[in-house]
Amino acid sequence: MTDPVLAEQLDYYEQRAAEYDDWWLRRGRYDAGPSENARWAAELGEVTAALDAMDVRGDVLELAPGTGQWSRRLLPGCASLTLVDGSPAMLARNPAASDARARTVRADLFEWTTDDRFDVVAFGFWLSHVPAERLAAFLSRVAGWLRPGGRVFYVDSRREAAKASPALVSTDGDLHTRRLADGREFTIVKVCRTREELQEAFEAAGLAAEIRETPTLFQYAAG
Ligand code: SAM
Repeated sequence: MTDPVLAEQLDYYEQRAAEYDDWWLRRGRYDAGPSENARWAAELGEVTAALDAMDVRGDVLELAPGTGQWSRRLLPGCASLTLVDGSPAMLARNPAASDARARTVRADLFEWTTDDRFDVVAFGFWLSHVPAERLAAFLSRVAGWLRPGGRVFYVDSRREAAKASPALVSTDGDLHTRRLADGREFTIVKVCRTREELQEAFEAAGLAAEIRETPTLFQYAAG
């Protein structure tokens, strides 16, 4: 990987793997108290309900699956699940990876491609790590990996939610510096697009999914 920020971003996740699910499960420094945790659960519930309503079937490609918070929901109905992530430590924590239908690929998503085609392409909390100048190319590759009639599942943070992270040290435009529990700091890309901006980018790439938002925290598309 030649871009030093993208290399640092991948290293950040490799080093963060052991504590990554604390964010998901609102543990330790991510425990924001009962009312904020309840808001997180309620808004996440809207997204998981939309994913469940998709009734995912067939061959599924999940990009940047990490520890598998979405993989485990994609797995039950699928025929195959291809998991592509650059971090061995994240993939090692993904329970779906050990399922007989799963195939894991350790690769840089800015370079990886495949001739395979899929019924569903899913990516959670990944798109905000794709720099602005790479968004159009990335979404067209997603469109190219879909079979005719194929569907997309996307979810990410809304802008204000990304800025509220207790791991955030500072921001410089689309670059965020974050601190791990042990104090090490990493600079990564974090671009939170408006619903309208992302809808336009999806449409330009030929992706028909409607971008939706929960009241405060998440942006998503399911179908
Ligand atoms: N999808 C999971 C979720 O929603 O919890 C994990 C999202 S996590 C915010 C970002 C993921 O992107 C990590 O698993 C990380 O290893 C992966 N990643 C970062 N840079 C990458 C790259 N260049 N190529 C492949 N994966 C990368």
